[in-house]
Amino acid sequence: MNFEEQAGKSVLARAGVSVPQGRLCASAQEAEAAARAIGPVVVKAQVPTGKRGKSGGVKLAATPEEAAASAQAILGMEIGGFPVARVLVEEQAAIAREFYAAVLNDPASRSPLVLFSTEGGMDIEEVAATRPESLRRMAVDIRKGFGPADARRLLLGLDLGEAAVPVAAMLVDLYRVYRQHDAELLEINPLALLADGRVVPLDCKLTVDDAALYRQADIAELGAKEPLSALEERGRALDLKYIELEGNVGVLANGAGLTMTTMDVVSHAGGRPANFLEIGGEAYTKGTEALDLVLSNPGVKSLVVNFCGAFARTDVMAGGVIQAWKTLNPTVPVFFSIHGTGEDEAVRMVREELGIEPYDRMEDAISAAVEAAR
Ligand code: GDP
Ligand code: MN
Repeated sequence: MNFEEQAGKSVLARAGVSVPQGRLCASAQEAEAAARAIGPVVVKAQVPTGKRGKSGGVKLAATPEEAAASAQAILGMEIGGFPVARVLVEEQAAIAREFYAAVLNDPASRSPLVLFSTEGGMDIEEVAATRPESLRRMAVDIRKGFGPADARRLLLGLDLGEAAVPVAAMLVDLYRVYRQHDAELLEINPLALLADGRVVPLDCKLTVDDAALYRQADIAELGAKEPLSALEERGRALDLKYIELEGNVGVLANGAGLTMTTMDVVSHAGGRPANFLEIGGEAYTKGTEALDLVLSNPGVKSLVVNFCGAFARTDVMAGGVIQAWKTLNPTVPVFFSIHGTGEDEAVRMVREELGIEPYDRMEDAISAAVEAAR
């Protein structure tokens, strides 16, 4: 789950990290009122993506009138595919220097990685390419954690002057927040050194592991909602992993792996899958709902049912689909491929109860479905 800047900053603030004071506003009037209360402000588009500065989504405003005008200009923009519905109106910082700080999951070391650079404000990829000497990385052993001594070691040799102390403290805080919230990424760019010597996060990008949201309930409500289609909402309510796609070949298979294989073969055969759906071992108990969900997509012109049984029995899965079939009476052509445990029985059931002959080869069933959808 991604968190917009203001949500990420709320998480930091709740964890005791001080952030600039600001207000979330949905209109120019609200922005004007906020600036009247705060003073000179920066008006920032709130979308779960970066590069807002370069897109004109970050504007400085010295007066409430300017804040209103900036908000007016930014609200309704589209940045990285996201329409801007809200702006953060935040106290303007007197920036002396901009740094970069992040803690992220590092697949290479299979551990958290703390990153710091004295070159903030630009993309970290660009920093790594053009100013590698400014960049420090440290893989963290989660059993030992990341403390002040580690932070000092990381910053050694960088020209930070007196800022080294508050920067080190900030890195320790960031690691703590990252761990405490099961984050995959906590990135502060820029981490600003202010004229008065304080070090404050001016931007914040937070991504929390979706698999850990059950134990991050207190912050999950702050995260950006994924835009779901009506069918995807229905899938979620049924506890089925359903993703609506733009193609016209519906896919019903057992297990995520076989589903993705089926989708690949649909593409390979020149077609386009209409959905991803994982029903796992619940093909029997949720057969009707799953079939209904796939067929409710008006784009679906044909359907592939692809079952492959190892521990799961294909005859049980076929029984579920047959039962669902009798309730739903699909009108689109359906193509079966059934292999593995219980295959003979499953094939017989489909043949006798639905009057459909399953294909011997998966590729043939899928090609036929792609052809039928044309
Ligand atoms: P991003 O482009 O989406 O990463 O947005 P940021 O939040 O990083 O803002 C982009 C840039 O705007 C920063 O690198 C700063 O240079 C500038 N900026 C943001 N907040 C302030 C502020 O309070 N004062 C000043 N002077 N500049 C700011
Ligand atoms: Mn930024």
